[in-house]
Amino acid sequence: MKTLIAVATVLVAVAGAASAHQLPLGDGKVSTSPRKGYVFSCQTRFPANAPGAHAAGPWISGDSYDPARKPTVDGAASWPASLTISLEGGNRVIRANSLPRHATGNFPITSSDDAYNYDRNPNRIREQPVVMRLPVVPSTATPSCVPMGMIGFALTGTAIFNALDAGGRDAPAHEIQDRCNGHPERNGQYHYHDASPCLTDSHGQPGGHSDVIGYALDGFGIFGLRGEGGKTVVNADLDACHGHTHEVVWDGGKRAIYHYHLTAEYPYTIGCFMGKPVAQPVRQAGPPERGPPPGMRLPPSGGPRPPWRQN
Ligand SMILES: [Zn+2]
Ligand SMILES: [Zn+2]
Repeated sequence: MKTLIAVATVLVAVAGAASAHQLPLGDGKVSTSPRKGYVFSCQTRFPANAPGAHAAGPWISGDSYDPARKPTVDGAASWPASLTISLEGGNRVIRANSLPRHATGNFPITSSDDAYNYDRNPNRIREQPVVMRLPVVPSTATPSCVPMGMIGFALTGTAIFNALDAGGRDAPAHEIQDRCNGHPERNGQYHYHDASPCLTDSHGQPGGHSDVIGYALDGFGIFGLRGEGGKTVVNADLDACHGHTHEVVWDGGKRAIYHYHLTAEYPYTIGCFMGKPVAQPVRQAGPPERGPPPGMRLPPSGGPRPPWRQN
């Protein structure tokens, strides 16, 4: 009997090593109340034929996926980013054109890009002027749901969305992003659904807590992947909204304050708002939405998902 147990342990260890790069797939983890490891989403019904990636890639197997095996949208397009953040009275005022401070892939995704086999994002990145007035020191409130679209703003000058694609699935698992883990939605708004390697995070030198990488629409900070002692944060370290409270650097000083963390695992950014969110920031209306690209038609019902996206 002892021998059998020892063999079983070895097998588990080997399986663990083999799946070191696998992440659990978040599909279906959408809730109508705060729940750890879920997105408490304001939208809970999703169209079956929603826009998005039209083909499931081989990087998804069963209930897990390997982000390292996903194609990346090619290109190195640069943008005239504009971002200012100022403290005005009790408000942190973010003014931005939503263009990223880093290079992006080429969108629309071109047919010569391997990403095109799975995701034909036809949207062009476009300026989206935003003005956000967030409390400098927010208060916690009854947790509330996160909307589709922007849930926060990153210090790279661009939007952070929740973990869901337009069909309510795990967006980072299904959708193809550029090397900064970003892509544009149908209005041309560039955004991330999860941690971007293009975010600046010194995590306070080795062994330190991550830096703030952006702000949620309730004003609380979103910090990088590392918690106290430089330890990589996992969902188990966080509450249902994907945050916790301890002393962090806040506007140059130290303050014990609630904050969210990015994690490698779903829901990646925030699961619900722990403070009262401001309304979605006012955006200037852009040019009319692009329809399907030339030569592309809506498939008959039951056919493949239309490749132009909403989220
Ligand atoms: Zn923390
Ligand atoms: Zn998206």
